[in-house]
Amino acid sequence: MRFHVLTLFPQMILDGMNTSITGRAIEGGLMSVEAINIRDYADNKHMKVDDYPYGGGAGLVMQAAPVCAAYDALTEKIGKRPRVVYMTPQGHTFNQQMAKDFAKEENLVLLCGHYEGIDERALELIVTDYVSIGDYVLTGGELPAMVVIDAVSRLVPGVLHNDESAETESFENGLLEYPQYTRPVEFRGMRVPDVLLSGHHGNVDKWRHEQSLIRTKKYRPDLYDAYMKSSK
Ligand code: SAM
Repeated sequence: MRFHVLTLFPQMILDGMNTSITGRAIEGGLMSVEAINIRDYADNKHMKVDDYPYGGGAGLVMQAAPVCAAYDALTEKIGKRPRVVYMTPQGHTFNQQMAKDFAKEENLVLLCGHYEGIDERALELIVTDYVSIGDYVLTGGELPAMVVIDAVSRLVPGVLHNDESAETESFENGLLEYPQYTRPVEFRGMRVPDVLLSGHHGNVDKWRHEQSLIRTKKYRPDLYDAYMKSSK
């Protein structure tokens, strides 16, 4: 899978993605992350890519021309019009289902805004999906783009090793994951639940399912209600 990030801060993307599991997947050729500097497509000698908003108001707006020029160069290179996700607090809130949907793409473009955002005309011309990572405002779309890439890349076959399997994670079956423990058996007077030491797989599975229900009900009653409705 190929991720293409349109950004004013390419180094931020490369620094963030070339480590840990995503870094290993890039090195292993399972996916690639290209950071395209929108500023390289500025059409003036000062490489300026933003200007004051028409109608007045605070801040600067990223201009349509360099964003569209960067996009045009990319589509020419890959030979088709890919899905373009604009990271914006105004978008649909990102979730595991969206991650699964994006993971089906061969090429996925993530467009990062900065300052007050991007001229609406560029968005109308190139964007296919508007995605937010939550109801708060960040300074730029780079961290949100990395959140999306990280979540999607875990679903690309081969990126996770068997011992890092995504199948039992939170949201996979509509519930939050059960609590996890590792050695030692006792830590500061707190013991690992006996059932996990019993070696009885049936009882372990039953306990984990019960724990998933308990914590989902406590922390995410919305998910719990949906799960109970769907399992009736
Ligand atoms: N003026 C915009 C508004 O009120 O909707 C906010 C602009 S924000 C300061 C700058 C950029 O950060 C946005 O263009 C977007 O790319 C990114 N951004 C900020 N918060 C985000 C969020 N919650 N999810 C996704 N992207 C976000």
